[in-house]
Parts: sequence; C-alpha cells; structure tokens
Amino acid sequence: MNDPSSKDFTQQTRTVRAALETDTQHGAVVPPLHLTSTFAFGGYGEKREYDYSRSGNPTRDALGTALAELEGGAGAVVTSSGMAAVALVTQLFRPDQFAVVPHDCYGGTYRLFNALHTRGALQVRFVDYQEAGQLEQALGERPALVWIETPSNPLLRIVDIAATAGKAKAVGALVVADNTFLSPVWQQPLALGADVVVHSTTKYLNGHSDVVGGAVIAARPETHDLLKWWGNCIGVTGAPFDSFMTLRGLRTLHARMRIHGENAARVAGLLSRHPAVAKVYYPGLPGHPGHAIARAQQQGFGAMVSFELAGSLENAKAFLHGVHLFSLAESLGGVESLVAHPASMTHAAMDEAARLRAGITDTLVRLSIGIEDGEDLLRDLSAGLDAARAVIW
Ligand SMILES: *Cc1c(COP(=O)(O)O)cnc(C)c1O
Repeated sequence: MNDPSSKDFTQQTRTVRAALETDTQHGAVVPPLHLTSTFAFGGYGEKREYDYSRSGNPTRDALGTALAELEGGAGAVVTSSGMAAVALVTQLFRPDQFAVVPHDCYGGTYRLFNALHTRGALQVRFVDYQEAGQLEQALGERPALVWIETPSNPLLRIVDIAATAGKAKAVGALVVADNTFLSPVWQQPLALGADVVVHSTTKYLNGHSDVVGGAVIAARPETHDLLKWWGNCIGVTGAPFDSFMTLRGLRTLHARMRIHGENAARVAGLLSRHPAVAKVYYPGLPGHPGHAIARAQQQGFGAMVSFELAGSLENAKAFLHGVHLFSLAESLGGVESLVAHPASMTHAAMDEAARLRAGITDTLVRLSIGIEDGEDLLRDLSAGLDAARAVIW
C-alpha cells in the first residue's frame, strides 16, 4: 500500500501506516528522521522543497500530514509544546479584539490569556460555559475568538461543540477547540463546526510520556496558511526528533485508546460502587451532567476519571499512599496510569476560595487511566480506597 491516505482504508489503518514507504532513496519502510537544520540548494536560485528546518522539515511534515488527516483539517502546524500551539493561535488577533475563554480551561491556557489581557495584547473574558446566560452575553459583545475545551480538567465538564460553534460563528468569531483530552479518535471538533483544533501532543497523540509537543490544525487552507506563516515567523515549530517520536506513538493511537477507554469505564464503575467514594466525575456515567452531549458528540467517554473521597484531606493522603500502580504525577494520556491531587498539584496556584468555587476540593483525586491490565488497576485502586476508608474522620 503506497498511498496510506487512500480513502479505501479506515482511519485506523491510515494512522498506523502514515508516511510509511515514502523513502524514495532506500525504500526504508519507516520514514527516516531528518536531523538537519538546513538543506542544500540545487544550485543558484534552485531552492528545493525544504531550505531550513524552522520553516519546514520532512519528518515534522509527515507528522503534520497525519494529524491534519486525523482531525479532518486542511493542514497542521506542529509546535514545540501544547502551549506553543495555544500561543500560535493568539498571534491571529489584534489588541483591540475580544476573546471568550472558558474559566475552567487548562491552567497554562488560562495563564497565557490572562497575561495577554493584563498587558493589553488582547481583550479576554473568562466565562463559565455551563451558564448559558454568561456565554450568550459574552457572544453579544462580538468576540473575534471563542475558545472551547471539552471535557474540562479536572471535573470533565462537557461543552456542546456544535451548538457553541454555531452561535460563535454567527457573530463572526473564530472557533478554536482544544481536543487534547479525547484525541481525534473520540472527538472531531472540525466536523462539529470548529475552525481550528489545538492539541498538546504530549498527551494521547504521542501517548508515551516522553515528548512535549503540540499541534494546530485548521479546517480551511487560508487559516492554515496564516498559522503556518506565524509558526515560522515566531519560531514555535516542533523539533524533527520529537516529530519522529510522536509519529511513532501515533501509529498505536487507535489501539491504545481502545484499552484506555475499556479500563476507564471499569474504573468509573468500581469508584461509583465503593463506600470510600463520595462522588465520581466521568462523562460515561449516566448521572454525569454532560452525559447526553458527550454521548452525542464523542465516540468514547475518555480515560480521565476524577472523584471525591468521603472525609477530609487525610483520607485523600491515605489513598495516594495506598496505590502503587498509579504514579503520583501531573500530565495525562500516557500508557501508564497516573494519579494527581489537583488541590496540591495542578491547581495549587489558585487560592483556596477560587479553588472551591471551581469545585476542586481537598478530597478530589484525578486519575489518568493507562493501558495496564484492567484487573491489576482495579485491584490497586481497591487497596487505595480501603486505605482511605480506614482513616477515621
Ligand atoms: C497539557 C495541556 C496543554 C498544554 O500542553 P503542553 O504540551 O504541556 O504545553 C493544553 N491543553 C490541555 C487540555 C492540556 O492537557
């Protein structure tokens, strides 16, 4: 199969085979890693396809092509981190323009938009998208940018992408969706009306917790050309080696997501039945506030599960000490299971009042469910939950 993008094959097959057998020099099955900063001209005035790796690199382009195809976009700019991808998008706007951003977006995204607003580089309004009135009011001020992130972190709140994009585009806004938490296997925002998708490829797309990277995928060629121009201009493009690693990780994306999803559903089931647990946040549970929308716009419920333990911080500590298969670490989306305590880790920068307003209590625990054997994960979690329950409160 020399044309992996052939529509005769499913997306899973095309992702596994992205850019395979494209080496015309030696016929290497896996595309070679082009570790070079610069490319020789053929002669005077004879620039080849590539001239300098900030502007373009064959390895990075192979990843970009695969990502654009996965999201159904016109093109992708591969960046050096997820935050570089977010920052790249902000280059498209003038200081007098107005952006609507969810108040519970990724912490780094919040910090960036807040800093841009503070120095007058962009007018930013943080809005609770769960409050229809707040969003309507902000849209009434004719924003140039509407940012969507669904499911949210760490409470997995769901935003209706098609409904939000429809209203935002009606007032002329560019709609950008951060699709990091689900990957294109489970959610395709461009098909739901978003103009641009942003990824931290650090998470599921690379999937092995060994690369920091990002991508911006645009639905229309004009938007992609603009993003590509800015990506080269400000120099946020990703390294060839990281691109090689990420393309390697991407080949197993569909297979990984299947196991991530199976394990997460089982974990959510165990948590919702356990007496040590006060509340479970997982879009796959029928009682989750966004369950119906998630069911309609996603093909999977994700592999992030958050929950509140009954009791106090002491119970949460006992749980964190009591699990051994879950590494206590930030980040998510790798093959290995991780546990995080948002109040003391990812959201420690927030003051306590703001944290509680956002629903992040001392007993809240966030799990990134990996692809280990599900039975092992359940046994380990049970041990942690029993340890939490043994603490008298
Ligand atoms: C991690 C993350 C980012 C930032 O990506 P980095 O690769 O860490 O720079 C942005 N959005 C979401 C939803 C993330 O989880």
